[in-house]
Amino acid sequence: MSKTNEADNVLLKADHIKVHFKGKSKKDGSVKAVDDVSFTIMRGETFGVVGESGCGKSTLGRTLVRLQDPTEGHIYIDECDIASLKGSELKEMRKKAQIIFQDPSACLNPRRTIKQILMEPYEIHGLDKEKDVEAEIERLVQLVGLDTYHLSRYPHELSGGQKQRVGIARALALKPELIVCDEAVSALDVSVQAQVLNLLEELKKKLNLTYFFISHNLNVVYQVSDRVGVMYLGKMVEIATYNKLYEKRYHPYTEALLSAIPQVDDSASTERIHLKGEVPSPSNPPSGCHFHTRCPKACEKCRILEPKLIEVDEGHFVACHLYDTETDIKEGDITE
Ligand code: SF4
Repeated sequence: MSKTNEADNVLLKADHIKVHFKGKSKKDGSVKAVDDVSFTIMRGETFGVVGESGCGKSTLGRTLVRLQDPTEGHIYIDECDIASLKGSELKEMRKKAQIIFQDPSACLNPRRTIKQILMEPYEIHGLDKEKDVEAEIERLVQLVGLDTYHLSRYPHELSGGQKQRVGIARALALKPELIVCDEAVSALDVSVQAQVLNLLEELKKKLNLTYFFISHNLNVVYQVSDRVGVMYLGKMVEIATYNKLYEKRYHPYTEALLSAIPQVDDSASTERIHLKGEVPSPSNPPSGCHFHTRCPKACEKCRILEPKLIEVDEGHFVACHLYDTETDIKEGDITE
């Protein structure tokens, strides 16, 4: 793909996003939930994000749809910087980017029928009086594999999988281009997970959707993603296509994470790498490479210098000193 075509094909560009929260007391430093993260999402792709809990992946997802404001940085959707939008412009942007949450029971109002719940996005945007809204809602429930009789039901009358289908229908109501799936199948039984994943795949093709797919389940992310981003302690440490990452992982953290995926094919099995120690607190991350306290390959440079995300192979980005021979420690970098 030429550079111009590639640029036209970018739906979202995250540019040095930081999301920092104030600590509980003055003594506590700020919590760097997302710390200087940049990447792009191409139109029609599923960009999966993996990482241990607390690595900032959900905060990042919520920031992409502006449920969370970034502390710094830009988020371009179709070249419009949504990070600085306010009021009616922000509301208009929400039509383009929606989110599906983890727990469908918690995000559907138990006092409203499914029809009333699906009417909410139209009410918020003043579209509920338009003449074909009712027909549109009927079309939506059928699109996600429910029947029109479900519209008169309340959330407690539906199974977990059916509730998540309602969550998906609600996210689709305003015809978004980008959907953030935040652990969208994690709360479901395994058999239902597969059905909902298949539904998301069908909808992606039918409606030309783009997904930012967050999951702690590496198998799920690996199954559904075109490209995968690996996060550790608020940083994106490796980004590559599914195929490239399957062939070779460069970052020691990715190597350890992916060694935990059970292999069906014995010949492809790799030895499980057990990381030592706890994930450090994002309010007091280690100096240099945040992973150096747990990395089996860490050296002096890792303790002092933060690695930059560099392209090690076409479209394969890694933040690790093992592959960056150009950056070295200078006198001023040593503070202790
Ligand atoms: Fe390990 Fe150093 Fe690479 Fe960080 S920069 S992942 S500590 S080798």
